[in-house]
Amino acid sequence: MASVELQSLKKSFGSHDVIHGMNLSIEDGEFVALVGPSGCGKSTLLRIISGLEPASDGEIRIGGQVVNHMNPRERNIAMVFQNYALYPHMSVAKNMGFNLKLSGVKKKEIDAKVRDAARLLELEALLDRKPGQLSGGQRQRVAMGRAIVRNPAAFLFDEPLSNLDAKLRVQMRSEIKTLHQRVKTTSIYVTHDQIEAMTLADRVVILNGGRMEQEGRPIDLYNSPANLFVAAFIGTPSMNLIDATIIAADNGWAAELPGGDIIQLGARRNLAPGQEVVVGMRPEHFERGGDGVSVTGTTTLVEPTGAQTHVTIELHGQPATVVLDGGIDLAVGAPMTVSIPQDKIYLFDRKSEQHIPR
Ligand code: ADP
Ligand code: MG
Repeated sequence: MASVELQSLKKSFGSHDVIHGMNLSIEDGEFVALVGPSGCGKSTLLRIISGLEPASDGEIRIGGQVVNHMNPRERNIAMVFQNYALYPHMSVAKNMGFNLKLSGVKKKEIDAKVRDAARLLELEALLDRKPGQLSGGQRQRVAMGRAIVRNPAAFLFDEPLSNLDAKLRVQMRSEIKTLHQRVKTTSIYVTHDQIEAMTLADRVVILNGGRMEQEGRPIDLYNSPANLFVAAFIGTPSMNLIDATIIAADNGWAAELPGGDIIQLGARRNLAPGQEVVVGMRPEHFERGGDGVSVTGTTTLVEPTGAQTHVTIELHGQPATVVLDGGIDLAVGAPMTVSIPQDKIYLFDRKSEQHIPR
């Protein structure tokens, strides 16, 4: 196990700059998720850490040691991909020990390491089975076991679950988290799926176009998005983001929406009359009735999910999603009044896209 540090890391393919000077410190044993849209440089970053791709500039340190010049084997890092590529004709035990065998490790030592890993992964009863006789979750554990026997400094995961159906994905996610709680090997997990990142990681790093937008504990990113990108990226359904203009109000400030609706903001700092802002309101912070700031629109879509109902209401042509209790009966086309606590209303500067602290 080891820490992983990136310092002023840059990567270009020809004239195409992909990573623009990234600084990131991952502690020994930490589970960090790198999340961002497709093409933002996630896989490239992992490949650079593992040694499959050279950095264009900057430093990579593993366990405090600069590894830029080292090949992948010397870095002792385990990559776990979408495709586990277990050998179908080999038993679980043989699959787990195969890389050690290739490296010339003695049979007795391989057996001991495989046994230890199998105990850790609760695979002891399955060691003689072939991959075809295992469930998806068990196959994933074997793939992890194959990595664990090498005692790697860190695990790198590149979207390992993105090929799976929704139910299996959730199950595997729990398996990976449980494993990390047991093994505690430093893990870097790349995904475009914010829920996966939030649920798995101690810390989430949000990437956009080869730059870090924000990093922090999942709950801090959710509660305090630094900018519009993070606000829109974290949370399901997404935060409602509505253009508005700041106006003075009796008790402080208000936001005037394009259709003329007014959202009372109360006393806040860092605002000026006429300022162009984006008002952010999370769907789950609304309730029917309630004594927060009220908003009235027309119900245009009702989507029951069971525990909750997602309702789209239109405010002068601008759709807003609100999450209400499950089982409520709502008519499309009817007016709907919902409210949101004032302290749950986010403001972002429209030009800089940065959060405006209250
Ligand atoms: P992600 O994994 O976040 O989807 P990638 O790291 O795969 O993104 O790619 C980041 C950017 O780098 C993309 O624009 C991609 O086209 C480019 N890229 C990746 N690998 C190469 C390569 N070998 N040569 C040229 N461009 C590449
Ligand atoms: Mg990728």
